Formats: sequence, structure tokens, C-alpha cells
Amino acid sequence: MAIIQAAKGTYDVLPRDAERRGILESQVNRIFGGAGYRRIETPVFESTELFARGVGASTDIVQKEMYSFDDGGGRSLTLRPEGTAPICRAYVEHGMHKLPLPVKFWYFGSFFRAEQPQKGRYRQFWQVGAEAIGAGAPETDAEVIVLLAELLDAMGVKGTRLRLASLATPETRVEYRDELTAYLRAHESELSPEVRARIDLNPMRAFDSSDRATQALMADAPKLLDRLGPDDALHFEQVRRLLDAAGIRYELDPTLVRGLDYYTRTLFEFTSDALGAQSGVGGGGRYDRLIEQLGGEPTPGIGFAAGVERILLAGAEQPIAPDPVDLLVVVADRENRDHTVVGFELTREARQAGLAAQLELMGRSLKSALKHADRIHARYVAIVKDQETATLKEMDSGQQHELEMAGVIATILRGSRLV
Ligand code: AMP
Repeated sequence: MAIIQAAKGTYDVLPRDAERRGILESQVNRIFGGAGYRRIETPVFESTELFARGVGASTDIVQKEMYSFDDGGGRSLTLRPEGTAPICRAYVEHGMHKLPLPVKFWYFGSFFRAEQPQKGRYRQFWQVGAEAIGAGAPETDAEVIVLLAELLDAMGVKGTRLRLASLATPETRVEYRDELTAYLRAHESELSPEVRARIDLNPMRAFDSSDRATQALMADAPKLLDRLGPDDALHFEQVRRLLDAAGIRYELDPTLVRGLDYYTRTLFEFTSDALGAQSGVGGGGRYDRLIEQLGGEPTPGIGFAAGVERILLAGAEQPIAPDPVDLLVVVADRENRDHTVVGFELTREARQAGLAAQLELMGRSLKSALKHADRIHARYVAIVKDQETATLKEMDSGQQHELEMAGVIATILRGSRLV
């Protein structure tokens, strides 16, 4: 029969991969936990309306990439494509504005987008992210960026670059969009056909064009960064001063666009040269209108999401020590059911005493059980001879002793104290 494979765009996290993820998770806990961020987990599916309202109906995510389904009762649910809208929903739903502000979260979980899979792009992928809700001060923006930079550094992510912009307010953006559209219309004949076709749909995309003539034209196009209102400009300037003080290098990128509608003011993205076409490692921004949009009181917020796979792809290979095995218990006469009980109990008691202990479960002969012990790097093997005695073999030295069953664990514990 044909074997069944994982669905397109999904993959298995095998134990050796899980280990590196575990390291990433503990770094997130250390770096963000140390700054007062606490873990939050929201459900894997939410009402579709949350993302339509929270991410923006006109975004690629909502228009093309959501896994939505009917729950059988006429309600539309969606596998979460991102984490910010669910966290803001939870913030409003649980009345978290009554907590000491700002409320700071981090998360680590899987997300789903119906995208064309390729290296670094999957349909189920993991993100690590953080959100600081309730604080509008530019220090918050800089703090989030600095912590993410520290995380990428701790994971050895190579060749990172930070791009920074301000998206101002939605009102300023509307005015700017009109100005940019007028500029593109006035120079329509010089634009590439694709850009020309999308002038009304998404004029900002013209900045991303690979067409030479379009690029030349866009160099002189009006930039949103030059149109910031006084408060937005002051905010942006302070974020930059704080990043300068922290020694974080960045490039101003007036063309930075991200696929989510809810951003205001600061917008940032880390890329890595160590990644191929999908070079975005993580990014985020300020979303001062989002909570209101979800039915809460006007509340500022800022956060980021970074791709776990991409951090691991671009990050340093960390030497991973094999899982320690202190003791492998082998029952010499597997046919003897009383001996098996003794071996089972010895293993259990060893674990209770704090040892990493395993029972040989495959019915191996003594010889192949010892080979197996070598392969799993067991420090000791206890061979259960009968109900009272065992042979304890230290694998490194090859030394072995006949012991009373009760002495096996004590001997190993003594041994490990001597090492
Ligand atoms: P976004 O929520 O689109 O801003 O994405 C934030 C980060 O998540 C990106 O910089 C990527 O590192 C990662 N990411 C987004 N979509 C995918 C995907 N389909 N597969 C793998 N990683 C992704």
C-alpha cells in the first residue's frame, strides 16, 4: 500500500529538531521573561471575524491565505494566521486593562497560512512573538526591537539587517496614498505594466518593483516618512535615538510595507542574508487602533512576530548533547516474569531517585543489550540476575560488580558524586 505523507507545506518536528526549538523557547523565556513579558497561549482557531476585523479585510492574509471552515453550526472559524489579533481579543475579553499596565506577553506556537510552500515558507509554521499593550511611549517600541535583536543574537542568527519606518496614522496614510497615486498616474507611461495595473489597488507596491524605469521613477516619488505629522515625527525620532543609544544599527526604509492593516507609527523588520528568497526573520510594529477595532477602549500596543523555522535556518548550529542515560536496566532472563517485575521496579525507583533510567524493552540478548547501551551512551547497565541480585557495569571503565538489588541505585548515586 502507498505510504501516507505529511500534507503539502507541513512538516514533522522530529526529536532532534525539537531540541533546538526547546533552546529557542528557553532563550525567549529568559530574554523576554527578564523584561516582564509573560507567556500567553490563545486557541489555534478563532472566529473568522476576528481576523477580518483585526488583520484587515483587504490584506493578502484575509483575502487569500486563511484556512476557514464552517464549524457545522453555521459559524465560520479560522486557523489562526497570526498572533496579535487573538492576543488583543484576549486582552479585551479578560478585562486586562485593569492589570498593572503595560501588560506584556510572549508566545510561541504554530500558525497557518495557505501559501505556496518553499524553503522557509510553510502552511503550518511556528512563530515566536511578543506584545506590549497599554504603553504608547517610544521606549516601548525600542524595547521590543532591542529584545528581538538580543534574541536573534543569542540564537546566532547571521547577517541580520534591521529596516525601520513609520507608518504615521491611518489618516495621514490615506492622504499620502492619494498623493502617491496622483504621482503614479502622472508618470503612468514610465511604469512597468504590473505596477500600472495595480496603481489603485496598492500604490505602495510600486516601491518593490524590480523594473529599472519604475525604480528610477520611485526614487523621486513622495515618501510617507516625509509626510509624518509633528507628533508622529517626534515619536519616530525618539525611537531612533533610543536604538542609537542601544547600539542597534538600522536602515530607514520609507518603502517598508507589511501585509497587515493595523499598524500605526513604528514599523520594523529584521532580515537575514543567510536566508534565501524568504529573507524576513521577524518584524512588527505599533498598532494603536487595533484594540478599539476589536471593541475595546482605545489602547496603544506594539509587538512583533518572528519565524521559528527561519531563526533556526539562519541561526548557529548549537552542539546538542545526547540525552543523558544514567542507567539501562536489562533483565537477563526475560522469560521469568518475576525478574521482569524486579527490573521494572528498579528502573522506576532509579527515576524516582533522580536518575535518567531506561528499561530494555526489545527483548535483546545480553550482548546486543550492551551494544545498545553503548549507542545510547548509558553510563551504567544493571543486569537483573534474579530477584535479589544484579550485576552493575560501568560502561566507561568496563568495571562490574555483583550487587544486592537495593545497592544498585546507591552505588550509581555515589559514583556520580565522585565524578
Ligand atoms: P508576519 O506575521 O507575516 O509579519 O510574519 C512574521 C514572520 O513570521 C516572518 O518574518 C517570517 O519569519 C515568519 N513567517 C511568516 N509566514 C511564514 C510562513 N508561511 N512560513 C514560515 N515562516 C513564516
